[in-house]
Amino acid sequence: MMATNGKDDCGLYGDVSSVSADGPAEEATAGPKLQNGGTVHRGGFTFSPEPSFEDVRRMQAQFTDERDWNQFHQPRNLFLAMVGEVGEVAELFQWRGEVAEGLPDWTESEREQLAHELSDVLIYLVELAEKCHVDLPQAVLRKMALNRLKYPASKVQGSAKKYTEYKD
Ligand SMILES: [Mg+2]
Repeated sequence: MMATNGKDDCGLYGDVSSVSADGPAEEATAGPKLQNGGTVHRGGFTFSPEPSFEDVRRMQAQFTDERDWNQFHQPRNLFLAMVGEVGEVAELFQWRGEVAEGLPDWTESEREQLAHELSDVLIYLVELAEKCHVDLPQAVLRKMALNRLKYPASKVQGSAKKYTEYKD
């Protein structure tokens, strides 16, 4: 469960664009170019457009302010709380072996529990970014541009090697 008082809690990306014919320099500065008007369908699943990271930041700020918990929510505490929530996600997967996409063998209750724990991770991640003054949406764009440079689709197609293992 998500922390209630703050005292005791103390690869994501998919390559959605091909390498630019103009070379990597342009790709490093441009944002991701999504197909289908900004929606990349994968296995028929997409997210809802809202809430945004900023919406989540604002909702969590209101939640903590209403409880006078901001005094506990320094970066280190938030980081540790987030790691704790990652552990709660891990508990849901442990001992199951490999799990198929879409979790077809999970009950609705188990899926909802996973949704709760993933949300806890995200909420703490967003608050941690806020308290560290990392503009997370823009940071994601910069990092994905770097990832595209590090792993050019033309070079790494179908391979799971780390970037240091690729040769020119
Ligand atoms: Mg939790």
